[in-house]
Amino acid sequence: MLEIDWDAVNGWHDPKIIPYGNLSISPAAPTFHYGIGCFEGMKAYKDAEGQVRMFRPNKNIERLETSMTRLTMPSPYGELPPGHFGNDSASLGEDGGFLQCMKDLIKLDHDWIPEKEGYSLYIRPTAIGNAESLGLRKVGNCKLYVILSPAGPYYPTGFAPVKLFADTVNVRAWPGGVGNVKVAGNYGPTIQPSHDAAVDHGCGSSLWLYGENHEITEVGAMNILFVIKKKDGSGTEIATAPLTRGDILPGVTRDSILRLAREWGEYEVNERFLTMGEVLEAEADGRLLEVLGCGTAAIISPVKSILYNGHEIQVPTGDKVGPVATKMWDAITGIQYGKVEHPWSVVL
Ligand code: PLP
Repeated sequence: MLEIDWDAVNGWHDPKIIPYGNLSISPAAPTFHYGIGCFEGMKAYKDAEGQVRMFRPNKNIERLETSMTRLTMPSPYGELPPGHFGNDSASLGEDGGFLQCMKDLIKLDHDWIPEKEGYSLYIRPTAIGNAESLGLRKVGNCKLYVILSPAGPYYPTGFAPVKLFADTVNVRAWPGGVGNVKVAGNYGPTIQPSHDAAVDHGCGSSLWLYGENHEITEVGAMNILFVIKKKDGSGTEIATAPLTRGDILPGVTRDSILRLAREWGEYEVNERFLTMGEVLEAEADGRLLEVLGCGTAAIISPVKSILYNGHEIQVPTGDKVGPVATKMWDAITGIQYGKVEHPWSVVL
């Protein structure tokens, strides 16, 4: 694991790669009491030549920086001087800073990345407030660490489209809140409603709504996209919630898919709040084509139905995978595994 500490006197200092193990932290540390903790989720992949690749790592680091800043932790991005691993400086590239520290860790542990397609190395950067006394104030000490784990394919036996539970009671995030950052406090409270959606309604994930009109925001811990034929017959749109209100996590997968879809030009790409009423209407008119969750873990998670106020909205793709989901899956995984050369795939 990689471990780096910050304090006001020394700044970010002495990054270390040490054996994976428990941390020793004061029981008064603000991470335990006030939720001063945030994290990232990213992956490294092995291509057919055995080269290790990361996918848009700067996007995750930028998001980590935004999350840390929201919790008054100082940013590590670029602040760590090159040469930070002492005699190992020969391995340092042009990046310097935190990304280079992560690259060094991944290179050291590259044997843990399975060679088969679909497999990867999951990377979990985590930042916590680590002061030694109680006090609801700006963070005086913090710790940033990165742990790794081999990850198997999300769909070992093929895609498994999910049934969603549109939750009209619990709200994941709201305007003026912190839904746009990956802070720990956003996640714990979603477990109980998601558990209830599974146990009481047989649903694989919660669909998070906001406001009286039940605007669709996200699904589980993923962004969500709807493929719908436009009412005026002028084509097909891919619609997903916009980032402007600050209650949506800016997913790296979401951004990648929207950029590719805009390049393809086959669909109108709209970042707008779609309401449950619009989805019901599209279902009734036969205009609802595909629904898909997207995120680092699954890349694409096709949806087969949505349980909303007792009515199960049927997505016509059912247990199959639609053409838009397939095209996006192929494009993103093609880049991640280096089958298609693209600047988003960074070879270590
Ligand atoms: N939304 C939430 C709430 C998440 O936790 C995640 C995962 O990080 C995403 C969306 C998808 O983001 P990404 O594509 O960067 O994995």
